[in-house]
Amino acid sequence: MGKIPVIDISECNGCDGCLDISPDTFVYNEDLDFIEVVERDQYDTAEVDEAIKNCPKNALSWE
Ligand code: SF4
Repeated sequence: MGKIPVIDISECNGCDGCLDISPDTFVYNEDLDFIEVVERDQYDTAEVDEAIKNCPKNALSWE
C-alpha cells in the first residue's frame, strides 16, 4: 500500500480546486458537504502533488 492523500477538513474552504486538478482522487460528498479522498489502491502522484501545491488553505498532504 502506497501513500494516501489526506484532507484537513478543518482547513478546507470548499474551493473545489483539488476536484478540478484530480477528479479521480477527490470527490465532493453532497450528504456531508465536504471533500473526500476516493479510496484507491494507487493515486496519481503528479496530480495529487499538483493539488497539494495549489490548495489555497494548505489542507492537503500525503500520509
Ligand atoms: S483545494 Fe484545498 S481548500 Fe480547496 S477544496 Fe481542495 S482541500 Fe479544500
